[in-house]
Amino acid sequence: MSQIVFDFDGEISYYELVMNYKECKHNHGVHYGFVLLDGCVEFISGGRRNEDDEVGDALICANCNCHRNFHRREVTIRPIPQPREPHNNVIYVTLDPSVI
Ligand SMILES: [Zn+2]
Repeated sequence: MSQIVFDFDGEISYYELVMNYKECKHNHGVHYGFVLLDGCVEFISGGRRNEDDEVGDALICANCNCHRNFHRREVTIRPIPQPREPHNNVIYVTLDPSVI
């Protein structure tokens, strides 16, 4: 999860980016010249278990066994009263009211 901090002429407001991964767009029929989707409607983390997989399975969908990147990403920006905790992934945006 990422946070965005807007500084509008000294007035600070905080937002967080919430990522949701919806239907799977992985075309399983691409090698045969047609479109074949698996019908997965939402990414659920933690699918495939493989001892040789050092990356782990957090990015593999438990429903369809496809990587998360095949799922349509939906981003929601919602205001938060203040940062809940220190966060490494923060985007600072300073808005100059004279250019708006
Ligand atoms: Zn899936």
